[in-house]
Amino acid sequence: MNADPNCIFCKIVAGQIPAKKVHEDDEIVVFHDIHPWAPVHILIVPKLHIPSMVEVQPEHAGLLGRMMALSPKLMRELGVTNGFRHVINTGRDGMQEVMHLHLHVMGGPRPWLKG
Ligand code: 5GP
Ligand code: ZN
Repeated sequence: MNADPNCIFCKIVAGQIPAKKVHEDDEIVVFHDIHPWAPVHILIVPKLHIPSMVEVQPEHAGLLGRMMALSPKLMRELGVTNGFRHVINTGRDGMQEVMHLHLHVMGGPRPWLKG
């Protein structure tokens, strides 16, 4: 699926609702989480509407790799110097709230609110 008109992250991708973006290219957008768990908490989001890891196919492997590979550069640019954490929540038992695949990246000095 390319986009879901009811999806909040598709709306951010389309510029229909605002977000504090830190990166954008032809296939990925990155913005600050609206309720950060850590001093720096960004969401790395594919522009393609993939609902969750459940729907990931072998042809998405390059995209997922590029999402992961972006994180060290972005965390460095955001001043994170002491490590960070990746989280992907999947489905109901995985406590996923937004059904558009996204990679949380959190860092900054502890204590954190969560995570
Ligand atoms: P999930 O539980 O699905 O892995 O995480 C969804 C994340 O998206 C949550 O951490 C939540 O704070 C964040 N979020 C939900 N809606 C918005 C929004 O409209 N803008 C931004 N920037 N983050 C959002
Ligand atoms: Zn979407």
